[in-house]
Amino acid sequence: MAQGTKRSPRTGRKTTRSGKGGRGRGKAAPATVGARLDAVLAWCDALWRRAGAALASRRAFFSAAGLIVLLVVGVGGGYWLAQALVGSPGTRAASVSRPPAAATAPKAPPPVPKYGSIDELPDLPRYSEAEGQPRPVYEERPPAVTPVARRASADATWMRNAIAFQDDRSRPLIVIVIDDMGLDRPRSRRVLDLPAPLTVSFLPYARELQDQARAARGRGHELMLHLPMEPMSSVMDPGPNALLTTLADDAIRRRTAAALDSFGGYVAVNNHMGSRFTTWRPGVETALKLMQARGLAWLDSRTHAQSVGGLVADELGMPHVDRHVFLDDVDSTDNVRQQLAETERVARRQGVAIAIGHPHDATISALAEWLPGLRGKGFVQGPISAAIKRRLRLE
Ligand SMILES: [Zn+2]
Repeated sequence: MAQGTKRSPRTGRKTTRSGKGGRGRGKAAPATVGARLDAVLAWCDALWRRAGAALASRRAFFSAAGLIVLLVVGVGGGYWLAQALVGSPGTRAASVSRPPAAATAPKAPPPVPKYGSIDELPDLPRYSEAEGQPRPVYEERPPAVTPVARRASADATWMRNAIAFQDDRSRPLIVIVIDDMGLDRPRSRRVLDLPAPLTVSFLPYARELQDQARAARGRGHELMLHLPMEPMSSVMDPGPNALLTTLADDAIRRRTAAALDSFGGYVAVNNHMGSRFTTWRPGVETALKLMQARGLAWLDSRTHAQSVGGLVADELGMPHVDRHVFLDDVDSTDNVRQQLAETERVARRQGVAIAIGHPHDATISALAEWLPGLRGKGFVQGPISAAIKRRLRLE
């Protein structure tokens, strides 16, 4: 029993050892299943852990990828949104008000100066070109006749617009120019009734200018344009669209061109007022070059001693003359008579005298009594073109 008992454990152990293969199917099965289960569980656990780790790393991957996608979409979307907002009508309207955007808007043409009639200027003051005091009588300056001026004169506008006038040059020439024509219609008409030939200079803003000019020409007078320019005195008004020293060059160009276009058939241009403007060389050069391009002559009214009008005209090779006497700086018949006597003296002394008057009662009546006696005193009454021709020694 005891052996059996010993054997039994031995056998049992042996059996256990040897019987692993035989009796294992029977007695050892629960331990193997448990181990396998453990192994399976461990494997599952490992698999789970690995899957978890893989999942965790995949989650991290997807999270990172998602973040990148979000970043790209965010940046791209933001850019698109910004573009869409910039292109929206409201934003565009706001940006139009900025200077660079305004440049892309269609540009309105610059306003072209247009001379209105005197009826549109109810507050225009009555002119007095004397500027407060009588101006000196000028002697003829030594002529600086350039070959350019003489050559350019052959078929120039001023020659074609000159009235027919035979000048034998045997007598001193007197030229009477009446400025400021066309505004005061009744007095302008009375000027036209004076013995011809006078030279009548019309303001570019006079009413029915072409008709008035035609009527003047029909009476045997020569035509000029009276171009308004800035005076020294700030209280004097040269009228609309005058040439001012404060204007830019292209504005001077536009105003001059508009005045030159105001009527046709004139020979020369002279300055209305302009005691300030005619001393300003850049402006005078611009204005005179435009006149020269149209074949016109220049009469410097010499409303200021420092006027550069004559000098610039000489430099340009442009036909020009200077005013010698102002007839009515003092508006009285006696004074006009004295100035007419002075005109005679200047003409005798230098062969030519150019006197400027205005459509004033005193001037008109003094001229009416003086003009008919000129020939008897040995003078010849002629138009401004005759004085220019004498200066250029033409014909
Ligand atoms: Zn004037």
